[in-house]
Amino acid sequence: MSLWSKIKKAAKKVWRAVKAVVRVIVRAVITIVNRLTLGLPDLLFGFIAWPPKRLRLHVFILWTEAPPGGGDEVPPITQIVQDAIDRTKRIYKERFNVNVRPYSKSFIEVITDPVPPEVLDFECGIGPEFGVAGEFFANHLAGWNAIPISLTFPVTVFVVRDLQDGSLGCSMSVIGDYVVIDREGLNDNVALAHEIGHTCGLWHSGTPSNLMFRSSPAGENVKWFQKNILRSSRHVQYW
Ligand SMILES: [Zn+2]
Repeated sequence: MSLWSKIKKAAKKVWRAVKAVVRVIVRAVITIVNRLTLGLPDLLFGFIAWPPKRLRLHVFILWTEAPPGGGDEVPPITQIVQDAIDRTKRIYKERFNVNVRPYSKSFIEVITDPVPPEVLDFECGIGPEFGVAGEFFANHLAGWNAIPISLTFPVTVFVVRDLQDGSLGCSMSVIGDYVVIDREGLNDNVALAHEIGHTCGLWHSGTPSNLMFRSSPAGENVKWFQKNILRSSRHVQYW
């Protein structure tokens, strides 16, 4: 590799990290401002879970192939995704009085463009947000085009081939607008709902029956203050 291309590569790496830092700061600011303005009634009284609110969701499927050796009885990934969405819709309605709606005409979109390997076999953590994977997710977020183009702040779900270290799903908490999940996570009863909970600001619970219990299987229960936090998130709206 020539010196010039080495410099270019290093500059690209720095630029990626700078953009990621800006993304994090922008989201942190929006999160705080939202909680203290539009989200304030729910931050204080969200446990009443009224009136009903809405959360917009968009799912990008980045990998459609079934794992090898699965046989013919493995349902298509679109079906697995739809089932996970349906379970999430039920949990959010029952527990938070939040209606999960599609951001665009339908919930699910399959991406056929090439996807970087760092994304297909994603490793959960803050590090990848500052590299190739974070840039890919940022460029494909629903409702964002460097700046928010929608005041509904939809949550984007990326369905990848595999998550490293056996994770079922991951989320960047309030500093991201997306969830990453694989086939295994989609088949888990609550993993999608759990990860969206992180994106809305919920942290882990030590109670196995709680939706935010740290390991699978988690339950579906939520505590009163979890309703306050989720319903006051910028991803959850009155309109
Ligand atoms: Zn978690």
